[in-house]
Amino acid sequence: MYDYDLFVIGVGSGGVRAARMSAQYGARVATAEDRYMGGTCVNVGCVPKKLFVYASHFHEEYDQAEGFGWGEASPEFDWPTLLRNKNAEIERLNDVYRGLLDGAGVTHYDGRARIVDEHHVAINDTTVSTDKILIATGGWPVVPEFPGNENVITSNEAFFLEELPRRALVIGGGYIAVEFAGIFAGLGVESHLSYRGPLFLRHFDDDVRTFVHEELLKKDINIHFESVVSAITKAGDGTLDIEFTDGSRLETDLVLVTTGRKPNVHDIGLENVAVDCRENGAIIVDEEFRTSVPNIFALGDVTDRVQLTPVAIAEAMAFSSTQFKGVRKLMDYDGIATAVFCQPNIGTVGLTEAQALLDYSIKIYKTTFKPLSNVIAGRTEATFMKMIVDEETRKVLGCHLVGPNSAELIQLAAVAIKMGARKEDFDKTCAVHPTAAEELVTLN
Ligand code: NDP
Repeated sequence: MYDYDLFVIGVGSGGVRAARMSAQYGARVATAEDRYMGGTCVNVGCVPKKLFVYASHFHEEYDQAEGFGWGEASPEFDWPTLLRNKNAEIERLNDVYRGLLDGAGVTHYDGRARIVDEHHVAINDTTVSTDKILIATGGWPVVPEFPGNENVITSNEAFFLEELPRRALVIGGGYIAVEFAGIFAGLGVESHLSYRGPLFLRHFDDDVRTFVHEELLKKDINIHFESVVSAITKAGDGTLDIEFTDGSRLETDLVLVTTGRKPNVHDIGLENVAVDCRENGAIIVDEEFRTSVPNIFALGDVTDRVQLTPVAIAEAMAFSSTQFKGVRKLMDYDGIATAVFCQPNIGTVGLTEAQALLDYSIKIYKTTFKPLSNVIAGRTEATFMKMIVDEETRKVLGCHLVGPNSAELIQLAAVAIKMGARKEDFDKTCAVHPTAAEELVTLN
């Protein structure tokens, strides 16, 4: 009756997985995209960001090497080389994503898709019919209103800078702010971070926030709290003059705004169907990702629940299973581990101390230490670990790590915590020595 069983708008992490899995379950699937294959994560998010983080960390590796007997080494950093190699890797991944869709028998349309009515989607001059529609259009950076805000860039542009600036200001205090402030500092840029509140990373555990603040200061990042930009003026030579609401000023060469992302619902034909949205545009869905129109679904960042790639992917798997495999699967949002790739990086899972205190009587275990490699290298960078335990059941409610490889460590801690591990389960696990991770099973 219809051309397709499922039409997916947007081929980011969630859209590609939903299209691929649904096709594997036997559905006739089409996708459309007018930007890049793989969405934010692959093109202007997780993947290039991680490559930049690797690049920016090298100078510390060189510094550290001296303490281990290697002669002084400080090779020149070449931004165009990094950019070229990063772009080549992203292009490779774009092809991989296209191959995944082709391999699954999905028909892909290059172009902007607009919903015409409940069962029709138009892409350029082509209109197709479909039983179900899945909106997976992701999010888009938000830039606050202030005079001169046309002089800023967002993370979308930060990945394609033709030149590395000499000085940069990052506005915001979330994931992207601390990650990019670290990338800039590591690459030798005079790095400033301006956050409107008293301490950044508002949704994270308070000890983590304080510890990260101390560590970022050691990396020569200039951190300005209670700081709000009121205007930016661009001089003839390109210098940006920043004015803050308290009257202070700063000169810089680049301003990166990282003040959150909003659902990307602009110009997709939502006005033609009765899909309910929240005030910020987020599409409202039920536990099966169904919108207020029964055959239209949405998942990932466009629903503005948990803006993380692995969450969009897991949602897509649940959606495909329920709709096309005949096995109802719901997304479990509990115990989602996450990492922030500031330097040192954060790995976190479960409740913060403040959240846990609302419902539990808790015991806190925490430690701060210098990793072995830093001791001999004469570096002051420390590692922080914290575990929050329910006093009654002894279950671990939250685990928060800051230090080299915390992002890697938290994945495995998350498995144990998801399984309901108690503090004593960690304690009776024999340590792996000498590692930073062994602290997790010896906390007291
Ligand atoms: P976040 O939501 O993490 O942080 C936004 C920051 O901007 C907050 O500090 C917020 O302050 C501040 N802010 C919001 N509005 C304004 C305003 N009008 N003026 C000044 N400051 C403002 O957003 P990001 O842009 O950093 O990242 C978007 C999302 O992408 C993240 O939430 C995360 O889910 C995802 N992401 C994940 C990564 C990872 O997994 N490693 C990496 C990068 C992004 P306040 O706290 O006071 O509200």
